[in-house]
Amino acid sequence: MTLTMCHRDTDNALHAVVVGAGFGGMASALRLRALGYRVTLIDRMKRMGGRAQVFKKNGFTYDAGPTVITAPFLFEELFSLFNEDLYDYVDLRPLDPWYRIVFSDRREFNYGGTVEDTLKEIERFSPGDREGYLRLLDMSRRIFDVGFDQLGDRPFHRFTDMIAQVPKLIRLQSYQSVYGMVSRYVKDPYLRQIFSIHPLLVGGNPFDTTSIYTLIHYLERRWGIHYCMGGMGFLIDALGDLMRRQGIHLRLGTTVERIVNKNQHASGVIIENDGQLRSDIVVMNADPPYVYTRMMPEGHDSPVIDRRIKHMTYSMGLFVLYFGTSRRYDEIAHHTIWLGPRFKGLLKDVFAHKHLADDFSLYLHRPSATDATMAPKGCDSFYVLSPVPNLKSGIDWRRVGDRYRDRIFETLESHLLPGLKRHIVHSFYMTPLDFERDYLSLWGSGFSIAPIFTQSAWFRFHNKNKRLKGLYFVGAGTHPGAGLPGVLCSAKVLQNVIDHQHM
Ligand SMILES: Cc1cc2nc3c(=O)[nH]c(=O)nc-3n(C[C@H](O)[C@H](O)[C@H](O)COP(=O)(O)OP(=O)(O)OC[C@H]3O[C@@H](n4cnc5c(N)ncnc54)[C@H](O)[C@@H]3O)c2cc1C
Repeated sequence: MTLTMCHRDTDNALHAVVVGAGFGGMASALRLRALGYRVTLIDRMKRMGGRAQVFKKNGFTYDAGPTVITAPFLFEELFSLFNEDLYDYVDLRPLDPWYRIVFSDRREFNYGGTVEDTLKEIERFSPGDREGYLRLLDMSRRIFDVGFDQLGDRPFHRFTDMIAQVPKLIRLQSYQSVYGMVSRYVKDPYLRQIFSIHPLLVGGNPFDTTSIYTLIHYLERRWGIHYCMGGMGFLIDALGDLMRRQGIHLRLGTTVERIVNKNQHASGVIIENDGQLRSDIVVMNADPPYVYTRMMPEGHDSPVIDRRIKHMTYSMGLFVLYFGTSRRYDEIAHHTIWLGPRFKGLLKDVFAHKHLADDFSLYLHRPSATDATMAPKGCDSFYVLSPVPNLKSGIDWRRVGDRYRDRIFETLESHLLPGLKRHIVHSFYMTPLDFERDYLSLWGSGFSIAPIFTQSAWFRFHNKNKRLKGLYFVGAGTHPGAGLPGVLCSAKVLQNVIDHQHM
């Protein structure tokens, strides 16, 4: 990689337009700036962060999207590009436990701390699974060494890239599902659920998601799980300030309609109600299925791609309910996963049958457990997330949303938060319809296309477009995939595929 091909702050500096200020877009803007590009970052939302929006209401602060930070070094790198230190700007706190998993029969498992802490928890459930867990962790490390260290920032836009990796992927049994792999090592049905929930964090069904994602076990073990004091918005503001210091031009509240083609080259974008913005390269952090079906220049839309996109498997939708309480629930951990009575059946309803079931499993976020600034004194701020079918289901959320919210509150009150309904100060929610409207996410999916084997690596949306020079993709729908580590790595892939000789 030559850093001198593009000249910073000269008339010769190439102009990069990045569409979408999600974490993938922000990281790309910074990496391009460090390479010397003049960068404009555009997003249709009024705040940066993409799905990581922030809502503030009556003294309560709610992170709208991601809450779990697993690989802080990927954020550190963005500041290091400019010889700055992330920790001069943000306070990342390690959490313990990482998650508390609560079953509907009230059994609890505190996941996190040291390996020894986890082994003690395993022994309470199934002493015979101690050794199996250690072997699972070892397998996770081996998958991590290949899937993250060797392939996480490597481009996969040529079929030969894929062919070269096939032996490794087969050796690691990437064709298996996460649940399948976990079950080979761990026998207890509770533990199997606990150790296979990770795909849900990146939009996949543990029974279908490629076992490459088992690497998250090792990722969590190696760096822990962190929370940014002040909430995720604080981290985004720190990245925003870094961009401003580096002269990146931010255009928020601005929607891009189309990519412009000049001589088979992406030469800018058409902005809604504002005409054309010329550039030397265009980096799309918008959802690739949306871009390919709605935003390509004339002559570059293709019925074959349209058909493929139509038949792809999309991640689940999310019903996210935000609420403040007039009391604190100090017995509730920062991250709680409540698993209802059905596991496989419920996931089948969400992913395959696309049926809104009567039962659910929930993830409950209580940032005020760690950070008192997230709620007024004596109060708690929460969000609860329920995986639901995406909009391919035809569910009319305008009709069923309130009822669904009430059922979640009833479940929380009976299983986790006694007296909840009496203490709710306010509540509001997002459904897949909001994901479609706000983020232009096809089918309102929470995480773009699903992380199954046939939609991973070369089979995922490529980071570099073959037909239109200078058009690149980063973010959840591209290689390596969704989740903060994935999208931050996609910006590293961009750095590795970019062709600096443009026009
Ligand atoms: C509720 C929720 C909880 C999650 N929890 C976690 C977690 O705890 N840990 C974790 O690692 N991951 C988590 N994830 C996943 C993670 O947040 C996402 O995978 C990641 O943030 C996606 O980043 P991205 O770069 O793909 O961009 P996105 O966040 O998808 O942002 C893309 C941006 O582009 C904008 N855009 C799209 N089209 C246009 C256009 N035409 N013009 C202008 N702007 C456009 C969109 O409005 C959006 O702002 C969670 C996701 C959700 C939804």
